[in-house]
Amino acid sequence: MTDRILWAPWRASFVLAKKEKGCPFCKAFKVKKDSVKNLIVYRGETCFVVLNKFPYNSGHALVVPNRHIYGLNQLNKAESDELFDVTRLTVKVMKKTLKPQSFNLGMNLGRCSGAGIPEHLHMHIVPRWNGDTSFMMVLDKTKLVSVPLDFAYDAIRKGFEKL
Ligand SMILES: [Zn+2]
Repeated sequence: MTDRILWAPWRASFVLAKKEKGCPFCKAFKVKKDSVKNLIVYRGETCFVVLNKFPYNSGHALVVPNRHIYGLNQLNKAESDELFDVTRLTVKVMKKTLKPQSFNLGMNLGRCSGAGIPEHLHMHIVPRWNGDTSFMMVLDKTKLVSVPLDFAYDAIRKGFEKL
């Protein structure tokens, strides 16, 4: 029996959101003009960078292969190389634009590891600032995301353009 429960009320907007039909990454990728609507801030040859609509933190970005693939072994060499190159590039851009003190990077392979969209591989990049998590989230049902999504979108997109 569990004697502790960690509530994550800020996830309610994601959990209760109407489930989109089809793959949201493929849908965003197909949009011709990138904007705060599809949240794509950068497109490479084989992968793109999209901001998370339900961020764990300000500027939470995802590096996503253009192809709808779920496994690391499905990446070809060019995709594998660019996925990491673009991850490094995104970290560089965020350091300049959002000035975080550190980062969490990672992949959840499969649903039970926490992947929200396990059918389309993606790398999470979560910028972190000192004191960016607090018990406000637990006690107050309030997730502190200090930078609005449209502001983060503009800043990061401009950062990529300046490279
Ligand atoms: Zn997809």
